[in-house]
Amino acid sequence: MDASAPLLAGPVDIPSVDRLLNAEPLQPLLARYGRSQVTAALRRLLDDYRARAVAGQLLRPALEDAALAQALTATLDDAARPRLRAVYNLTGTVLHTNLGRALLPQEAVAEVARALTAPANLEFDLDSGGRGDRDDLVEDLLCELTGAEAATVVNNNAAAVLLMLNTLAQRREVVVSRGELVEIGGAFRIPDIMQRAGTRLVEIGTTNRTHPHDYAGAIGARTALLMKVHCSNYQITGFTRSVEVDEVVALARPHGLPVVVDLGSGTLVDLRRWGLPGETTVRETIAAGADLVTFSGDKLLGGPQAGLIVGRADLIRKIKKNPLKRALRVGKLTLAALEPVLRLYRAPELLAQTLPTLRLLTRPAAALQAQAQRLCPLLAPALGAEYRIEAAPMFSQIGSGALPLSQVPSHGLRIAAAAGRRAGAGKPLQRLEAALRALPRPVIGRIGEQALWLDLRCLEEDEEAGFVAQWQALRP
Ligand SMILES: *Cc1c(COP(=O)(O)O)cnc(C)c1O
Repeated sequence: MDASAPLLAGPVDIPSVDRLLNAEPLQPLLARYGRSQVTAALRRLLDDYRARAVAGQLLRPALEDAALAQALTATLDDAARPRLRAVYNLTGTVLHTNLGRALLPQEAVAEVARALTAPANLEFDLDSGGRGDRDDLVEDLLCELTGAEAATVVNNNAAAVLLMLNTLAQRREVVVSRGELVEIGGAFRIPDIMQRAGTRLVEIGTTNRTHPHDYAGAIGARTALLMKVHCSNYQITGFTRSVEVDEVVALARPHGLPVVVDLGSGTLVDLRRWGLPGETTVRETIAAGADLVTFSGDKLLGGPQAGLIVGRADLIRKIKKNPLKRALRVGKLTLAALEPVLRLYRAPELLAQTLPTLRLLTRPAAALQAQAQRLCPLLAPALGAEYRIEAAPMFSQIGSGALPLSQVPSHGLRIAAAAGRRAGAGKPLQRLEAALRALPRPVIGRIGEQALWLDLRCLEEDEEAGFVAQWQALRP
């Protein structure tokens, strides 16, 4: 007989579920996860062990109570870990759609927590004691900040566009310039949304040039409205012509047709004040005569996911009466977060400190450079000899379709494979990228030009220590 044979477990050695559930080492698990969950996980574990015992691949010590409790703890803890996890966004794209876009200020977080744990006057008028409208909670603020007469809020900007078109143009025609028939990431295409809204798209102009007479020529008996769409994620340059909102308004007025504008990101303040590239604000668009403007809550506005529609009171009233509004409305968490964010805009001179999106976008390149130089020597040891890390200038993007070609000077870390060093299998940069994603709080960068780039714009100073600490667990 082989000397190691007595250590191998056989099928008959597998302990019973009932006995184990009463065993001392499992009691903390029962208290934390409850009997049914622990029982199910235990059955799966023992089934697995039985199969391995039959195959002669299980050692006896694995069946001791303490060892079983430890294995169970690992599977139960793993199953209990949230699937939606915090990551470090070092992609350089501040408003990254796949990473959840805008980060909210603490005021908003506190209001959301309150709304989650106490009843609130969501649709209850505290003055009259009667039924209220949930839009009332933010409508005045939105009007104050945009100069619009009325406002309403839905789930996101895609919903805002859908609802606006369905309300005002069902079974009728909507005139849009060919150069503005955009596809935004995540399968939002203006022509598809128009079709789902039950409207007929009338394309005018060419990809690069649309003239006022194109709009004038398209207006007919079936026209419901003229629409302009922000070319969020691309720009047509060179021999171009587009028609500004005020010009479209001048063409629409004699026919009594509304002009609606999907601003996409939509900003409430002039970003040039902070040295950032300029975007037309919602207020300017309303002032130019737009009858309705739609924009997102979680792009440049820096709030929760939401779609905002502002503009003429009679049109907003119609929109609120559309049964689709009920299907697309926002929940109390959104409203609880949106109100304090909007309130911050009453003090625009403080926004670069109070609004996280703007705080990140305005972090000075010099501070980022100092941060990169500080981090470089702290991070190098865990990378080993296979990689070279250096502080490097790079460019951040605002993201989410705001100013796609405008880049914001930034600094960060550039990691390249050291020449001639091939310690592990596979491509070294891809391996490193995967190892960074496997950290307790995954680190997301980007690969390009034979390097992995970690833009530090979204790693604020108070997060630095935690970032460095977990880096030591890196195993590329
Ligand atoms: C981002 C964007 C949308 C979609 O907004 P969501 O809030 O993501 O639904 C629609 N139109 C334009 C022009 C956009 O930039």
